[in-house]
Amino acid sequence: MFLLEGIKKYAETDRLALVNGEKSMSYAELDAESEAFAAWLLETFPGDKTPVVIYGHKEMALLPCAYGALKAGRAYVPIDITVPADRVKQIVEEVCPTAAVDFCGTGIDAERTLSADELEDVFRKYRGVEVPRSAWASGSDYAYILFTSGSTGKPKGVTIMISNVENFDREFSPWLESRGHVMLSQASYSFDLSVLPVWLGMAHGFTLHTFEKSVGEDFAELFSRLGKSDISVWVSTPSFAEMCCSSDRFDEKLLPSLDRFIFCGEVLTHRLVDELFRRFPKAKVINTYGPTESTVLVSAVEVTAEMAADERSIPVGEPLPEVTFRIADEDGRELPEGEEGELLIISKSVSAGYFKRPDLTEKSFFTDEKLGKRGYHTGDSAYRLGNMYYYRGRIDNQIKLNGYRIEIEDVEKNLALVSNVARAAVLPVYDGETIRSLTAFVILEEPDGLANLERAVKIKRELRELIPAYMVPRRITAVESFPLTANDKIDKKKLRELL
Ligand code: AMP
Repeated sequence: MFLLEGIKKYAETDRLALVNGEKSMSYAELDAESEAFAAWLLETFPGDKTPVVIYGHKEMALLPCAYGALKAGRAYVPIDITVPADRVKQIVEEVCPTAAVDFCGTGIDAERTLSADELEDVFRKYRGVEVPRSAWASGSDYAYILFTSGSTGKPKGVTIMISNVENFDREFSPWLESRGHVMLSQASYSFDLSVLPVWLGMAHGFTLHTFEKSVGEDFAELFSRLGKSDISVWVSTPSFAEMCCSSDRFDEKLLPSLDRFIFCGEVLTHRLVDELFRRFPKAKVINTYGPTESTVLVSAVEVTAEMAADERSIPVGEPLPEVTFRIADEDGRELPEGEEGELLIISKSVSAGYFKRPDLTEKSFFTDEKLGKRGYHTGDSAYRLGNMYYYRGRIDNQIKLNGYRIEIEDVEKNLALVSNVARAAVLPVYDGETIRSLTAFVILEEPDGLANLERAVKIKRELRELIPAYMVPRRITAVESFPLTANDKIDKKKLRELL
């Protein structure tokens, strides 16, 4: 399998695989530790293919576990520490893992859950044990499962097979031909943007430069690290680069080796492109597009000066060579050039479906018999000019906030679980095209005599136990009733007037 072969190849060199501040790990160490973890898995659970749950953040020992799972023929399920305990429990109940690694010490229910210390013991005890390549995950075996916000109020697991990522590598690795070999790995491992550095970066010998979320929020520390990083390929959400742009220090003097920015996951604004062209005149800015369900990204474009000057939005690119895009109307009929409709993706990188959720899979996925490939209804509205695609927004209630994918109903359903909240309606708050925050209106079960601010603090505290902090609305206001549409649905347009 290309990733594990790539790690073995660079393990023969003295190249670093991972750097996080003062901590670093060579490819040789990464290979040895992942091999040890795989040996433990194979010995403890012979023949077992259940995905391995890994609960943590940016621990150095996390990737050896992920790669170790793959070497033992298993998928890994990364869960970030931003996910609160209740939600972790829901995911774990769905996966039913036999083996798990818990870097946070909160307790993961599996037959064997290793703590960080126990994992170190495994690395020591099994060091030098070779795992046969025949044990490695391959073909239609699951590679990883990423849980993302679900409109039912519970996260849903996107399953990605080895063949999906192999295809992604074949299609996208030509875009990574950089002069250097250090890649920024900003996103948490539970977000699919991280798959780019963690799979393609590692397979092609890049040194991943990573840091904890807290470092990303501390400019002095972040810029001091970036300044020493020698990064040549920048991979992040536009939101993260935008945040960096709020400091004048973010320019080519800070990152002299940088030759390309690769963005994915949300709208790349003209403002950000203009800033980057000015601050990094020698670097390419590449916009890419794709949902987790299609393995990170399926289209790409190098942003030109003409695109930056154009009144249209920055395009999301041309589909990668193997990928077919279709713009369809509500009845599934293909629309001609220039007309806006739902974007369908047909590709070897499209997932088989949601983990143990045939109902949700059926709704969003299909098989294109003619092409013999899997297809996905993105829920994104788009149009094309020639073979260049332009994103227009969502046709449902899924949004992106600071790069995070959120189903509005997920927030609403969890708000309704908070004590004394009967019903909830959540609205995104826009600044131009960009969503800056969420605001919620709630109907209480009974009057609580609290001031609005006091109540909001109380509700938010409870809500944080149910959903990640990035999904918690900034403002929460109690109302007597919701305005309704003619067919008795909450009239969100009217509700917006209360903002
Ligand atoms: P995720 O599964 O977190 O990658 O989110 C996928 C969704 O993010 C897509 O369906 C789009 O709505 C949005 N998205 C991804 N890339 C872009 C892009 N380049 N421009 C605009 N929206 C994007």
